[in-house]
Amino acid sequence: MEKLANYIDGKLVPPTSGEYIDNYNPSKGEVFSLIPKSDSSDVDAAYAAAAEAFPGWSNSSNDERSRILFRISALLEEHLEEFAEAESLDNGKPLWLARQVDIPRAISNFRFFSQAATQFASESHAMQDKAINYTLRDPIGVVGCISPWNLPLYLFTWKIAPALATGNCVVAKPSEVTPYTAYKLSEICQKAGLPAGVLNIVHGLGPEVGAAIVVHPKIKAVSFTGGTQTGEWIARTAAPMFKKLSLELGGKNPTIVFGDCDMKKTLKEVFRTAFANQGQICLCGSRLFVQKSIYTEFKNAFIEIVKNQKVGPPRDSDSKLGAVVSKGHMVKVLSYIDLAKEEGGTILCGGEQLHMSAPYDKGYYIAPTVVEGLSHTCRTNQEEIFGPVITITPFETEEEVLEMANSTEYGLAASVWTENLSRAHRMAKKLESGIVWINCWLLRDLRTPFGGVKSSGVGREGGFEAMKFFTEPKNVCIQYGD
Ligand code: NAD
Repeated sequence: MEKLANYIDGKLVPPTSGEYIDNYNPSKGEVFSLIPKSDSSDVDAAYAAAAEAFPGWSNSSNDERSRILFRISALLEEHLEEFAEAESLDNGKPLWLARQVDIPRAISNFRFFSQAATQFASESHAMQDKAINYTLRDPIGVVGCISPWNLPLYLFTWKIAPALATGNCVVAKPSEVTPYTAYKLSEICQKAGLPAGVLNIVHGLGPEVGAAIVVHPKIKAVSFTGGTQTGEWIARTAAPMFKKLSLELGGKNPTIVFGDCDMKKTLKEVFRTAFANQGQICLCGSRLFVQKSIYTEFKNAFIEIVKNQKVGPPRDSDSKLGAVVSKGHMVKVLSYIDLAKEEGGTILCGGEQLHMSAPYDKGYYIAPTVVEGLSHTCRTNQEEIFGPVITITPFETEEEVLEMANSTEYGLAASVWTENLSRAHRMAKKLESGIVWINCWLLRDLRTPFGGVKSSGVGREGGFEAMKFFTEPKNVCIQYGD
């Protein structure tokens, strides 16, 4: 069985403990590789390598860093198919999705930030005829990047690329649930000529490796994407150490369909907002609100679409949904379907685990599920489920839907479907959300600020926001007049 390795000081090395954790293929429910069970001693070794590499990397020219990041992106592109297969195997997502979304986006992340390295500029503030201020932006030093399992390489590289582009050295931890492509990225970094110690990847459990990064006294900034509960612990632990934090956390996003929407387009796209990646995208719309004037027509047509989508093995090209990521996660999602029933919801479609034939008979498959008839304040409508389960709720007015949409503790993303331009702008302004899509979903320009409000997080990623996070500004004021 393949044993993954940590990537420390440019080398692939075993964990100091010598212990490993099972890594499952969710489509078959079988172990397919072993993950290093690292601990704080491996994080210490990664930190030491990063600290030694920092003077060289931070003093290298923007051009040089850009060139190496670009090479990583080009090598990833050369190996796109191999990476897509690895991602699908490890995560359970359809292979076509990994091929069309996950790996192309990881390639774009490196390409985008390789260019940003040469484009980033800082501010200057002139004081009338008297003085000028300019801002120096230096890399922070050694930074930590911690990522989740839903879009493994996509989100891992979304953090690492800007950290490296700005001249930092990194200790990174991918999710222990989906470590495979991060491991394979180590090999790409070696081939691309990334100097030893600039990027270190330590595998293992969150409370062991992740926590060791968070509490490390010399790791000055942590960029984290994951659950709100983990984010809360990180904030509580890192705040007294005055660390810089970027926290991208959970969501319970509303999808709001008005009677004046383009029905055909909306029906098709709303399926994606709800069930893409088995509903395991922090941006997925898990609460669907439909205006009463079209409620029955929309609901019936939508349920027809959902019922006709194939859930199946990730390698089948016609599988719209694959397996959810783990047995534990499947049990959690199914328990929310039970809760929805207890709370008085009616299951319009799905509502159960699906069983495939061998060799996929032990895999973790759930039918896409739509629940009707729940109050917007019940737990099913307030808590993040993060699976192929959504609720559908009618509304009459803008005010009413805004109240329901904004009623959760979360505020990551929302989508609004209407052909009325003024209404679209009004809604965008009033939704408590870091991101609002109008008549589209998951359309991403990497220059835009990305992140959530309320319990969905603190700080923004993307474009120069990320470059700013990974640099420390210093104001220099020069007086030249009286
Ligand atoms: P998680 O919080 O359990 O784990 C995320 C990462 O943190 C993993 O690498 C994990 O090992 C690590 N970790 C766990 N405990 C830790 C600790 N005490 N200290 C440091 N690190 C620790 O989340 P998950 O289950 O992997 O991911 C699903 C969650 O991620 C969902 O809530 C989802 O909404 C969220 N998410 C948010 C975004 C966003 O951009 N806002 C994107 C994707 C996923």
